[in-house]
Amino acid sequence: MEQALESVFDTVVARNPGEVEFHQAVREVFESMGPVIKRHPEFLEWKMLERICEPERQIIFRVPWTDDKGEVQVNRGFRVEFNSALGPYKGGLRFHPSVYLGVIKFLGFEQIFKNSLTGLPIGGAKGGSDFDPHGRSDGEVMRFCQSFMTELYRHLGEYTDVPAGDIGVGGREIGFLFGQYKRITNRYEAGVLTGKGLDWGGSLVRKEATGYGTVWFAEEMLRTRGDSFDGKTATVSGSGNVAIYAIEKAQELGAKVIGFSDSSGYVVDEAGVDLDLLKQVKEVERGRVKDYVERRSSARLGTSGNIWDVPAQVAIPSATQNELNGDDAETLIKNGVVCVAEGANMPTTPEGIEAFKKAGVLFGPAKAANAGGVATSALEMQQNASRDSWDFEYTEKRLKEIMVNIHELVAETAESYGMPGDYVAGANIAGFEKVANAMHAFGVV
Ligand code: GLU
Repeated sequence: MEQALESVFDTVVARNPGEVEFHQAVREVFESMGPVIKRHPEFLEWKMLERICEPERQIIFRVPWTDDKGEVQVNRGFRVEFNSALGPYKGGLRFHPSVYLGVIKFLGFEQIFKNSLTGLPIGGAKGGSDFDPHGRSDGEVMRFCQSFMTELYRHLGEYTDVPAGDIGVGGREIGFLFGQYKRITNRYEAGVLTGKGLDWGGSLVRKEATGYGTVWFAEEMLRTRGDSFDGKTATVSGSGNVAIYAIEKAQELGAKVIGFSDSSGYVVDEAGVDLDLLKQVKEVERGRVKDYVERRSSARLGTSGNIWDVPAQVAIPSATQNELNGDDAETLIKNGVVCVAEGANMPTTPEGIEAFKKAGVLFGPAKAANAGGVATSALEMQQNASRDSWDFEYTEKRLKEIMVNIHELVAETAESYGMPGDYVAGANIAGFEKVANAMHAFGVV
């Protein structure tokens, strides 16, 4: 890291003690900033890095609710409204027991740059709770969501802050949250949440968008080497929304996806994933990976290690942060991986990224590769604002154009700073410059 940035980074760490994921996300961006401050020393003078690392507003609140046994439960809710230079705060909500302020801040920080790369008018935010929806009834999830929104609604608005889903928050949760917002405010303000149901203001392609977008980004990276998905083997970690639709698009482009996972383990299916079965198990039954294996003779549960031990030419980590470390990267490289695209947020550790870079593996960082989800959220906001809804083909075409544009912007930025092929640097720099210039235009605010 450049010396001038080192002291700013130390201050960020000291001001945000214990938030290791946030430190990791900031460090990654700062490590790309050396050439930027050389070319634009004014960013230092304007204290742009200090300003961008400090959220505009952080909200932490109590979420009390009653479970099915009549027992009172207390969770903690968060919304970090990180940056509104480019538009209303935008970013998902994560419901997972691992959630604490440091996780929400890393996600919110990343979201600023990701949203900037989409070219659409959205600022960066993230929120969520340490509530665990696993094993909870629909009624419990509803009561939790209603309590969560009873506090959060006052901070939201289509021009203020627009949440969506993330891990543990899908169509069901967005429905409960929107219902409570509408009830409290007495406003049918469709643009206040995205990821809505198709019958009540949602957008076609939103469900598929993150996974599809990640695969298109990978396809663009492969294209720079005259290569494609066709005939390649692939593994996709996770089996949530991102993973399922990454598998769908990768298969459509001719790849054979032979592995996926969840927090209970991983599956190897040498015949190629049966997507209908996977959707049935995960989307309909909310089951575990073993439920897939029991109904599929070509599939087996992984018995040792993790999904990255399965040899594949393309790897798409789509589960959660820091799920692919330096050793996993070395294993993938040894087994011939040529392309890695991050469907999840920050799934690769710094050691993993370094290993891929050294080995010359195409590496698409989350900020760029998984921006298709939030980009389609912005398309959903556009449709809501014009009281319109677009068909699947048109929306998918818009999303694909956005992903191709992000790839081009990131590749060109890396090239212009003398680091061709370095998508990490390209994404950090291109995302940062736009936000910093907008912040400067507004004065010291
Ligand atoms: N949670 C998603 C992300 O990480 C989507 C956010 C959104 O649609 O607002 O980008």
